[in-house]
Amino acid sequence: MTDETVTDTSKAAAANGSGAVARRPSWDEYFCQVTRAVASRSTCSRKAVGAVLVKNRLILATGYNGAPAGLRHCDHTGGGDLLNGHCARSAHAEQNAVVQAARHGISIEGATLYCTNNPCVNCAKLLINAGVRRIVYMEVYPDQPAFDMLAEAGIALEQMPAPPPTT
Ligand SMILES: [Zn+2]
Ligand SMILES: [Zn+2]
Repeated sequence: MTDETVTDTSKAAAANGSGAVARRPSWDEYFCQVTRAVASRSTCSRKAVGAVLVKNRLILATGYNGAPAGLRHCDHTGGGDLLNGHCARSAHAEQNAVVQAARHGISIEGATLYCTNNPCVNCAKLLINAGVRRIVYMEVYPDQPAFDMLAEAGIALEQMPAPPPTT
């Protein structure tokens, strides 16, 4: 960003009296950015996945994929810790978000789930039964049974484009 752009933005903010930046992210964009940050904590080298449960614009719980708390991280060097081509040690990000809410006694009924990838079929089952009503994801994980099941449950499934880098 050039100095000129900064000046223009300041003038625009001053002109409308808001004092705010000219372009704020939407709520969906904002929570997608948070979800990216959550995914950065993943301990699985195969894929970094993040999930954030939100209700009334309040973050209820977050999760990223990784081995259960306190246990050694998965190690996929040389094809280890795999089962049928999938990571055999990690709990999924969505599972960890649901579990975090359960552990702290937080109801997620009616919540929106933000996730870096659409949920797999097993996570879809959990999310349906947890009462999640809307799912916003960024990248496609090809799992047709998951798409079918979420549609059958009447859960809104929306894809957001990847947010711009924050730096
Ligand atoms: Zn792994
Ligand atoms: Zn899953």
